[in-house]
Amino acid sequence: MPDASTKRMMAHQPARIVSGQPIDEDARIEASVRPKRLDEYIGQKRVKENIQIAIQAARTRGEALDHVLLYGPPGLGKTTLAQIIANELNVPIKTSAGPLLERKGDLTAILTSLESKEVFFLDEIHRLQPAVEEVLYPAMEDFRVDLIIGQGPGARIHPFPLGHFTLIGATTRAGLITAPLRSRFGIVHRLDFYEPEDLLIILHRSAKILAIEMDEGGAEEIARRCRGTPRVANRLLRRSRDFAEVRAAGRITRAVAQEALAMLGIDENGLDEVDRNLMLALIDKYGGGPVGVSTLAATLSEEEDAIEEMYEPYLMQIGMIDRTPRGRVATPHAYEYFNREQPRRQPRLF
Ligand code: ADP
Repeated sequence: MPDASTKRMMAHQPARIVSGQPIDEDARIEASVRPKRLDEYIGQKRVKENIQIAIQAARTRGEALDHVLLYGPPGLGKTTLAQIIANELNVPIKTSAGPLLERKGDLTAILTSLESKEVFFLDEIHRLQPAVEEVLYPAMEDFRVDLIIGQGPGARIHPFPLGHFTLIGATTRAGLITAPLRSRFGIVHRLDFYEPEDLLIILHRSAKILAIEMDEGGAEEIARRCRGTPRVANRLLRRSRDFAEVRAAGRITRAVAQEALAMLGIDENGLDEVDRNLMLALIDKYGGGPVGVSTLAATLSEEEDAIEEMYEPYLMQIGMIDRTPRGRVATPHAYEYFNREQPRRQPRLF
């Protein structure tokens, strides 16, 4: 099944400027601003410390690093961290993604080509076909794939030994990882949305690499509106630069950033039109909820996946939406933010 961003592309919908998913223009720029070593990787202190210790221990023992599972919303640095781990271990890295591995043989071909201690980065690991996923179990646990030789009653299973590789799995949906797969990862970390002070460091670093002139006010304004997501921060930085070059002598100040981002329809908390429509549907149409995600998706003509993967995590992070067992509800903060009066709940009658 195609993922949310693929479906969006297929439907020719414009990519959201505040989406954590990569859009076409990101690829070229990301290569130049993507950190390469652990000490350039900003924020995520706890994750970084843990990974650093695991890397050091593996290097000292001369063994492959344990398998690593990284999860969190798109654009927070999972791919970057995987590449950094390979760099720090001084080993090669191969990369693939769940939806690309359609048959068992696709995965087996990669696994049998891995050198000892090599890193295999598997993005969107929750989208593996069940039969393909099963190939991973003995590969991760016993460094073995079972090749089937011959056909019909005469077919034999031939165990084929693999090099001791490190699998780094990444997912935006930890809840969709099956228990047998998850249990085979020795190191599991969630990446969180970034703090404003970390985003400021990331923005100044990228501005320096891309030779963009930006003052502290400009950086603060972008940091506030980038949804705690480095990929969005870097994208808003480039858009603000375009605006600054055309309208403001090339320098991103607070006023320039405010104007540039307002023109893109992004408000002072990083919400765009889709977020506003989602929140207003929840408040005005469904009385603040609870309402199921499928109903919300249908109302907005969006994919359920897109809502759960891209819009909701940030709206929950800034306290606009709560997830309850009966569905999504708007918080009092959301009512205040959108200037709506909160309905009084009827007292329960016993
Ligand atoms: P994900 O794989 O989680 O979708 P990526 O690793 O591709 O995200 O990160 C997107 C971009 O954000 C990278 O190209 C990089 O420039 C930037 N980035 C991510 N994490 C960090 C970080 N900790 N420090 C600096 N830049 C980061």
